[in-house]
Amino acid sequence: MSITLRGALSVWTSGREGAGDVHVADGRIAAGPGSGAEILDVSGCIVTPGLVNAHHHLFQSAFRTLPGTRQVPMREWLPAMAAAYRDAGIDGSLTYAAGRIAIAEGLLAGVTTVADHQLNWPAIDASSLDAGTEVALGVARAARELGGRVAFVRGSAGDDAATAAASADRIAQELAPAPGGVSDDGVVQVAVGPAGVHSDGEATFRAFAEVADARGLRRRTQANEQVDTEIALVRFGRRPLELLDAWGWLERGTTIAHLCDVTPDEIALLAERGVTGTHAPGCDVPMGWGVAPVQAMLDAGVRLGLGTSGGGSNDAGHLLADARLALQVSGLAGAQLDARDLLTMATAGSADGLGRRDLGRIEHGAAADLCVWDVSGVADGGTADPVAGLLWLSPGRRPRHVVVGGRIVVRDYALVDADEAEIRSALRERVGR
Ligand SMILES: [Zn+2]
Repeated sequence: MSITLRGALSVWTSGREGAGDVHVADGRIAAGPGSGAEILDVSGCIVTPGLVNAHHHLFQSAFRTLPGTRQVPMREWLPAMAAAYRDAGIDGSLTYAAGRIAIAEGLLAGVTTVADHQLNWPAIDASSLDAGTEVALGVARAARELGGRVAFVRGSAGDDAATAAASADRIAQELAPAPGGVSDDGVVQVAVGPAGVHSDGEATFRAFAEVADARGLRRRTQANEQVDTEIALVRFGRRPLELLDAWGWLERGTTIAHLCDVTPDEIALLAERGVTGTHAPGCDVPMGWGVAPVQAMLDAGVRLGLGTSGGGSNDAGHLLADARLALQVSGLAGAQLDARDLLTMATAGSADGLGRRDLGRIEHGAAADLCVWDVSGVADGGTADPVAGLLWLSPGRRPRHVVVGGRIVVRDYALVDADEAEIRSALRERVGR
């Protein structure tokens, strides 16, 4: 199947932009038009790589705006969310139903790949690992049906270290057994990651690292939001990144979300070790965790992606909206960011954190994951810089068309292969909301 996106006002990819066409053949960006290509008229539109959401907790989308989780400190937020998870029962049917909501929402907002950090699990032991695998299979099935990509991060939040690691190994074997943890078709990736030093100890970090090293998986965790730092100081008398360093996690292949409260020395250490980061202002700002020093990290050479985090705190999975928020709040963190830097973070930056050089860029041979943003309406009138305007203008902007792996999955603002009402009623049936 070939597509030619013809006559874009601008084709933007990190470091390059200009008017022109984009050619797609066999699921990849091609140098020239394929035979019998479908012509998509994209005049008046900007074409960008599909957005890569580097940090989400998909199943929290079944628990948005829950009573007891707004206007409360994190020590009240955590048990309120945990009680709701228990009531619903964490299993493959929940992650499938919530995953469909979150992945569909993401696709409609231009997110073609999402990293799902699943932290909450049913009670399992060595004899019941299948119950854990079902949780991952539910998410993978939702992604495949909708036509989006997912990086499933087998997380832990205080789980038994050996069981969590065995479960991660089983999930990787089931979903993406090849070295590197990416399925042959590139749709499903598996990674590992404890929630953070506030919830998991050295044994869990070491056990997950062993699985990651054996299978070539990426490592993901969260660190240096204020609660994380506080707990690390009280419990260990050290800051989170010191602990992660001592536990062997400050390495190339590790991506750390949040990083709100980092010192200049810590930023230098992250850069030196080749650790990548994920900025998640749509979670950090409402939770009161502060604004991460993004410009300082970029200046130091830390590769950064962008994430929304989950429905318990954000509550939307709209990555472009959060890129806009990141621009707006960056003025409070030392320096106003550049819109193109944020677009880079939301595409190639997030993809690089996942070790996916095939994603997040428009170049010959890269995966044909694309967004077509129509900027011909009044909301974009009067702009001197339509590419920067993708963020500055039109809050809540959605793409007209979305392509994943050469397939059009959103056409004229609607899902091609799925029905929004059916996805919603299926979740309502499962959790009563
Ligand atoms: Zn998070």
